[in-house]
Amino acid sequence: MRDSDIERVVLKPRVLIPFAVWQKIMAYILNCPVEINGFGVIEVGPFGVVVQDVFILQQFATPTGVETDQGTLDRFVAEMARTGGNPGLIKFQWHSHVSMPAYFSGVDTANIERWPGDWLISLVANKRGEFSCRLDVLRPIRVGIDIHPEIVSTIPMVTMEIAAHEVATKVRQAGFLRRSVPVTDGRPVVPSTHGLDLEEIEFVEQEPRSER
Ligand SMILES: [Zn+2]
Repeated sequence: MRDSDIERVVLKPRVLIPFAVWQKIMAYILNCPVEINGFGVIEVGPFGVVVQDVFILQQFATPTGVETDQGTLDRFVAEMARTGGNPGLIKFQWHSHVSMPAYFSGVDTANIERWPGDWLISLVANKRGEFSCRLDVLRPIRVGIDIHPEIVSTIPMVTMEIAAHEVATKVRQAGFLRRSVPVTDGRPVVPSTHGLDLEEIEFVEQEPRSER
C-alpha cells in the first residue's frame, strides 16, 4: 500500500467563542493594568465546544504573573455544585499578558499540567486583542494542540422575538395550515403534522395576525 493510499484523518475540534463572551474577556483585560486570569463554562454541542460565559475570581496579580488561589477556586466550585450548577463544565481558562506577546509561557504550560480535570481549553490574550489558544487533553493520554478559536456572532433573544413578531404580522403565507404556530414556554415550536389527522389539513392563505 502506498503511503498516499492511507486516508489521513485530521480531526481538530472547533472552539466557538460568542462575540459577547470575547468582548467580556477583552473588557476584563483592558480594564486591568496587570495580568488577570479567569475561567469559563463550556458546552459541547454539535458544532464543537462553545464557551458559554467567562468569569474571574479573587486573585493576586503582578505585572508579570497572576494566580488565583486554589482555595478560592475550590470554594467557587463547591458553591456552584451546591446551587445546582455543574462545575464539570468549567473547562476554559484564560489570562492576559497585558501588552506582551500572547504566547503560552513555560509558567502557563506548567499551570495547564496541574489542571485537575481531564481536558481544558486555554486562551492567552493581550490588550491589542492578539491571542493564542490550545486544547490540552491530560487524561487518559496526553494531547496538546493549537486551536484557532472562532469568534462567532449569536442572535440576541430580543432580536429573535422582534423578528418573530414581525414575520407573524407582516408575512402572508400561502399553503400553510390554518393554525397558529404552537408556542411552549414562550418559544416557537416548528410546526409539524405529527399527530394530526391528515384529513384535517386544509391549505389556506394565512392572514397576517393582527397587532395585539
Ligand atoms: Zn501567561
